Amino acid sequence: MKKRNDNKEAAGEINSGLLREIAEKGVPPVYLREYVTKAYATKSPATILSDGKWRKHKASLWNVFSLAGFSNLLFFIRLSKTQSPDAGNIFIIPRVEAAHVDQPDHWFTLYDARFHPGSVFAYNRVNPKYVADMQDSYSCQQCGNKRFRLALGFEISPECSNPNDLSGFALAVECESCGWKGIVYQDEIVKK
Ligand SMILES: [Zn+2]
Repeated sequence: MKKRNDNKEAAGEINSGLLREIAEKGVPPVYLREYVTKAYATKSPATILSDGKWRKHKASLWNVFSLAGFSNLLFFIRLSKTQSPDAGNIFIIPRVEAAHVDQPDHWFTLYDARFHPGSVFAYNRVNPKYVADMQDSYSCQQCGNKRFRLALGFEISPECSNPNDLSGFALAVECESCGWKGIVYQDEIVKK
């Protein structure tokens, strides 16, 4: 009789099935479900992430998403602060928000380390009262424009047990105005 699937090897088998499913179907983190779809690898700026070279953990599987369900694909983005001059007890939590150009006051989450179980910030261990503000709307490094096309990359943890169980994030943008493109934000969700 087969043993219950409670040993490491069996668990590994189960997880590798889930891993493949998440990668093949392009399953996003739960909080992004209504905003993204699996990106076309050849469409900019997804092209920047498609080769996987951005992966800090070199996970064998990863997903690239583009935004979907909007009248056009132009967004403002804002990033969390990278340092804390007014430090005190304020935590800089890795996160990114976007707002569609037609609804510039409606910011929604593109990435938030608190939703990922591998992060030190997971499970709301940090009181929102102590979370640092976001920076101002991001501007193109080349022309100053604030409207971008976006692509999001997520590394899938080898021990992935749910769609939020991810080990790395990258945001690639393409400037609407001058066409500059590049990776503007990255986070190792799971620290090495
Ligand atoms: Zn530009």
